[in-house]
Amino acid sequence: MSVPRRIVATTHQGPDGDAIGSSLALYRFLKKQGHDVSVVTPNDYPEFLQWLPSNADVVNYMRQKPLAEALIEKAEYIFHLDYNHLKRSADMARSLYQSKAVRVLIDHHLKPELPSKYIFSDTGVSSTCELLFHIMKQWDGGLIDRDIATCIYTGIMTDTGSFCYRSASAQTFAVAAGLMDYGIDRTGIYDRVYDNYSENRMRLMGYCLNEKMEIFPQYRAALISLRLEEQERYGFVAGDSEGFVNLPLSVKGIRFTAFFLEKEDKVKISFRSKGNFSVNDFSRKHFDGGGHLNAAGGDSKIPLDELIQQFRELLPLYERELNENDV
Ligand code: 5GP
Ligand code: MN
Repeated sequence: MSVPRRIVATTHQGPDGDAIGSSLALYRFLKKQGHDVSVVTPNDYPEFLQWLPSNADVVNYMRQKPLAEALIEKAEYIFHLDYNHLKRSADMARSLYQSKAVRVLIDHHLKPELPSKYIFSDTGVSSTCELLFHIMKQWDGGLIDRDIATCIYTGIMTDTGSFCYRSASAQTFAVAAGLMDYGIDRTGIYDRVYDNYSENRMRLMGYCLNEKMEIFPQYRAALISLRLEEQERYGFVAGDSEGFVNLPLSVKGIRFTAFFLEKEDKVKISFRSKGNFSVNDFSRKHFDGGGHLNAAGGDSKIPLDELIQQFRELLPLYERELNENDV
């Protein structure tokens, strides 16, 4: 690409560490190449990600719509990071769809369905950040610096459950080791992401575990749900329920969990599993969602109670599958 090009880097709604980490890493990388770059997110993301280098430059479509739309309209290139379908851009999807920019997809989700001229899709990597690291290394490796490495490490760490999930391969650890050569503050990153929650969030977590966790031993499954009024009680802000879906997996024998978060206009659903039970398949089939083998999600306009009832009724259909392949 000759310079400067007008470029927008964007990612999925409810951006997580991998989404923001990859967007900001690419932003800094392309800026160093001399391009005119912007990061545009569809909506808010958690405070525990708002310390990343260049975070202050992020444009939030939900809050800065005219600016975001102007950037998208003028863009010559749009990078889609960490998602595989335009519908995951929420209200921003229409502007993105209308754009004439050259699209570049960099992602690690199964079945990419986002038409792009250039597609870097590898479902074998732990995270978009891991894939982006390889791309940047080959493209112009000398430009990678400590700040870029910090963004990349954050994305890998958060998408692998701190390097614990099966998606973290030997290659992932090799990349992490490579990132340490840039002098990243590994423990500082962990501290800012995981030991930086509000008192409200911790109490909400306690409430979920005490009052809201339902265990279905026969199916080795569990669910947690949170209504809007319960969220309000705990002064809920974006990101406060991050990771709650994983909590029941710490119960002996549980290998499939669901978390239902009621929002104003929909319910956000998250699924997690251990072993071979594919929550990607489950989510695609029943909740119009998707994701990965052990981590997937979706959203639904169906009222929360009905949705939970649907989930309960589906469990018996998976009894055998959930009870085989012990982990
Ligand atoms: P989370 O539960 O953390 O929101 O998402 C877990 C995984 O599922 C992520 O990899 C995410 O990209 C994917 N995912 C979450 N929500 C949706 C959705 O509505 N549609 C699809 N296709 N994937 C989702
Ligand atoms: Mn990811």
